[in-house]
Amino acid sequence: MENYKKIIEDIYFEIKTIDDTGEIANYIPELANVSDHNFGIHITTIDNESFGIGDFDKKFSIQSVSKVFALTLAYKFEDAKLWERVGIEPSGNPFNSLLQLETDYGKPRNPFINSGAIVICDVLLSHLKNPKEDFLNFCKELSNNSSLNYNEKVAQSEKKSGYRNSALCNFIKSFGNIKNDVDEVLDFYFHICSLEMSCKELSKISLFLADDNFTSHKGNKILTMSQAKRVNAILLTCGFYDESGEFAFRVGLPGKSGVGGGIVAVHPDKYCIAVWSPKLNKKGNSYKGMLFLETFTTKTASSIF
Ligand code: GLN
Repeated sequence: MENYKKIIEDIYFEIKTIDDTGEIANYIPELANVSDHNFGIHITTIDNESFGIGDFDKKFSIQSVSKVFALTLAYKFEDAKLWERVGIEPSGNPFNSLLQLETDYGKPRNPFINSGAIVICDVLLSHLKNPKEDFLNFCKELSNNSSLNYNEKVAQSEKKSGYRNSALCNFIKSFGNIKNDVDEVLDFYFHICSLEMSCKELSKISLFLADDNFTSHKGNKILTMSQAKRVNAILLTCGFYDESGEFAFRVGLPGKSGVGGGIVAVHPDKYCIAVWSPKLNKKGNSYKGMLFLETFTTKTASSIF
């Protein structure tokens, strides 16, 4: 940890003041109320050593990062049958694109673009009695953290402006790949996206993807080794939408971003690291977050490649 700590501090101060060419997400009006000066980093190793700097303890809207936990829960319920509903290929298109759904007969390319996550939410609705509460409880178990919660303001703000996601959900339903009521699926999707965490919490909750021996505090194994391998593989190839190649090229770790400006990256058998900086590049990924992680894996020589 000492080694990581010094490197994280150095990069933090180096990047903190650079000119950030990104822009804060404003298509969800409530997200635009967050100060773009926030910048935090937190690392947690599989031995439970941890270190954070900057705004690492402030909660933010994790947005699409929650698609990782939704996929995990759906995968537990469905195992390989899940891939009949959603694919595992990078889409090469923006996260909210409708384009391929028509030629793919309503089967989204992967679970991390919006269309794929909406289908995952539909799968979860078919399994969960109280979807919002049950999903939140699952995240609390994963992280051993009872303070996790949705941000109702963010969820409602996205609901009001969610025309694109509404179009995606209706379009998929027309192919028969949404089984539940469209409004219920969307309400659930907007809520899981509104989940809030700090970098500290995000790096901890993701440990189940880095540690083969992970069991929750309730003694439950979350994913089998093979399932965790597959989730990491999809994170590497699809976690950053049409910038997944770029993230693998520059950072070299499985990871997931959200339009709240958070990114979590996983080094299997070593650590999880979360970065938060709200300004996004053109592909919807945190500008400073990507730069930080690129410099970090380079200086610590700790990418998976
Ligand atoms: N809730 C956001 C949306 O559906 C999530 C997108 C993201 O974080 N990339 O647009």
